Amino acid sequence: MKNKAVFLDRDGVINEIVYHKEMGIVDSPFTVEQFKLLPEVGNAINKFHDQGFKVILVSNQPGLAKDHYDINIFEKIKGKLESELAKVGAKLDAEYYCFHHPDAKIEKYKKICDCRKPKPGMIMQAAEDHNIDISKSWMIGDGINDIQAGQAVGCKTILIGRMKCDLCKILEDEKVKPDFIAANLYKAFLIIEKNERT
Ligand SMILES: [Mg+2]
Ligand SMILES: [Zn+2]
Repeated sequence: MKNKAVFLDRDGVINEIVYHKEMGIVDSPFTVEQFKLLPEVGNAINKFHDQGFKVILVSNQPGLAKDHYDINIFEKIKGKLESELAKVGAKLDAEYYCFHHPDAKIEKYKKICDCRKPKPGMIMQAAEDHNIDISKSWMIGDGINDIQAGQAVGCKTILIGRMKCDLCKILEDEKVKPDFIAANLYKAFLIIEKNERT
């Protein structure tokens, strides 16, 4: 029998988005200190496991390509993610990252790849590696590209966002419609749990 999975975006779903004052941009954490887990994330991951889901991270991380941090910092941030989750007994089943960017500063990451969301390459690879039935699976993210990647392969989708939907106009313009909108990962879990029962 095939597995079902929840595919999770990282920044804005698992950890806080960071305002980088000196650059005037909102982006991923660029240092280990800036990486802060959002509330209830470990709890939500454990609940997904209780419901029989694999929990798999699929994350665009173009910060290496853009020279915001190096591979050592990236590995340390990855380590902090895992250790913070471990504190509450939570663990991701797998982590997939895309390091590419079409306009990368760092030449080796400059690539038009198949993994950078909205392309579904990471989801497809994960589905193959973990024997996953995509039609029974969910993609959860705070970006339009997350919803597009999920829908490209037939996942159900949940957009993480606030009630006053910042992205709604863009979603409308792009004709992208998530199945649900939830304020945070735990709320997304409640939606999926309810959906599984019906
Ligand atoms: Mg995100
Ligand atoms: Zn890529």
